[in-house]
Amino acid sequence: MIDRLNALAADWSPIPSDSRPRVLILGGTSGARALAGSLPGFAVITSLAGRTSSPLLPAGDVRIGGFGGVEGLTGYLRAHRIDALVDATHPFAATISANAAQAASRAGVPLVVLRRPGWVEQPGDAWHHVRDLEEAAALLDGRRGSTARVFLTTGRQGIAAFADVDAWFLARSVEPPEPPMPHRLEVVLDRGPFTLEGERRLLDEHRIDVLISKDSGGPDAKLVAARERGLPVVMVDRPPAAATAHTVASVAEAVEQVHRLFRAGPNDR
Ligand code: NAP
Repeated sequence: MIDRLNALAADWSPIPSDSRPRVLILGGTSGARALAGSLPGFAVITSLAGRTSSPLLPAGDVRIGGFGGVEGLTGYLRAHRIDALVDATHPFAATISANAAQAASRAGVPLVVLRRPGWVEQPGDAWHHVRDLEEAAALLDGRRGSTARVFLTTGRQGIAAFADVDAWFLARSVEPPEPPMPHRLEVVLDRGPFTLEGERRLLDEHRIDVLISKDSGGPDAKLVAARERGLPVVMVDRPPAAATAHTVASVAEAVEQVHRLFRAGPNDR
């Protein structure tokens, strides 16, 4: 609670008078947290959407809650004299990423996009690519019917899409899901990263026969465990993302890119 109040207060605190370049990180990912702790010499503010009640807080200042669309974010960049914006949000957080691109352009603030690469299908994998959660639900409904035992790893907000699917679900999320949700549902509350041993145990103990995942990229223990067992994976492909000049794939590259922005002249940004 105290952390949350401090985080909220950061939105209203006076702009610090120090001369360090000011970097706003749009977060909610492990990469954003790592980045916030890797920029000594910068005044870092991380922005969280406020989806979880006890988020893991990064180093530096934190603000929580939406900005109010492109207008709101543009206003924030100007009012807080942000020198660089880093979009380190999840690859499926398409709205805030689109807003970030527009707001950075309007406010004349350089934008760095940190997007970890998606997963690549390996020999032994049986992936069914779908465009979104609704397509995943339709595929499951049509193919497996009521006998399927499904491990759903698309997060709390992804569970509703499967509410009408007649299958048994094990869903993993940080916080308990809210209706609508499937009527045969067991929830495991947990936060990654997850070990290979733990993923093997979950699949075996619950006799899982299909895994549903977003193509989030990063640690892939669940995919390795599914491959070992020959389980089919329904993989939700990433939403399209706008090309941005400074798109990087790792935290180290993002650190380098932020430093480069401040070594470069304004015309190089
Ligand atoms: P979204 O659909 O792209 O964004 C919806 C709205 O939430 C945005 O328009 C913005 O509101 C607000 N918002 C989102 N991220 C924000 C941030 N970092 N700081 C302040 N406001 C933010 O986003 P989402 O998919 O709901 O994801 C929300 C957050 O959860 C993101 O920060 C993302 O990194 C994290 N996350 C998402 C997923 C996923 O699968 N989608 C997975 C793991 C983590 P305003 O328009 O009012 O500014």
